[in-house]
Amino acid sequence: MSTEQTEAIVLRVVEFSETSLIVTLYTRHFGRLSALAKGARRPKGPFEGALDLLACSRIVVICKSSDALDLLTEAKLQRRFRAGQTSLIRLHCGYYVAELLRMWTENGVASEELFDLMTRTIETIDGDGDALTAVLDFELRAMRLLGNAPATDACVGCGGAIESAGARVPFAYQLGGVLCPACRGGQREVASVRRGVIDQIAVRQRSQKPLSGPLAASDYRDLRAVVGRYVCTTLGMAPRTQSLLPANWVAH
Ligand SMILES: [Zn+2]
Repeated sequence: MSTEQTEAIVLRVVEFSETSLIVTLYTRHFGRLSALAKGARRPKGPFEGALDLLACSRIVVICKSSDALDLLTEAKLQRRFRAGQTSLIRLHCGYYVAELLRMWTENGVASEELFDLMTRTIETIDGDGDALTAVLDFELRAMRLLGNAPATDACVGCGGAIESAGARVPFAYQLGGVLCPACRGGQREVASVRRGVIDQIAVRQRSQKPLSGPLAASDYRDLRAVVGRYVCTTLGMAPRTQSLLPANWVAH
């Protein structure tokens, strides 16, 4: 048993008793963790907004060595997630990235890069930047950090280079990326994807900063479809909140 301090982002909140919550957090130093927050449901309880969905807080947690839940003893709010007050689309974007990060990560496996990526993504969703594009960038960069990124340069069947000619490229969801013509035969779940969309996936998964300039509407639509389906394939199921995202870019 040890007492630890770190920064945390609230990914899920579940009522546990009349007065307590179980929270799932993504933390800077300990990765995902689930903790019991006693008294959190009391009016004017000890946590005061610090455990609302997607809040960023400084926490103190007693980590149990066994399978028992960790115990949250303090949470001080650093930044509230307010997008629900301005835009339903921004709120839904927040729900989706919270669900993805919770599903993609394991308790106790930390990545400061992933923590920082999530923090930047929430700031964009909650600010006045393009939240829908920020969600796409989050999906692609997080998958790269987690080792799940789709292959865009070399064929996932044989490792050979993909010919640069041709307006469309075969993309295999199950195998995890692009295919050369020789490897395409007999593969299931293969889509023919515009080369410009594959190029966008390649650039966006490697970029450290948000790319400047808006996405063309047709690029957004195709990226949303390809990335969304790829995410479902890697998880083996559809995230519950994915269907809340618009298929076409809309002002928000
Ligand atoms: Zn091949």
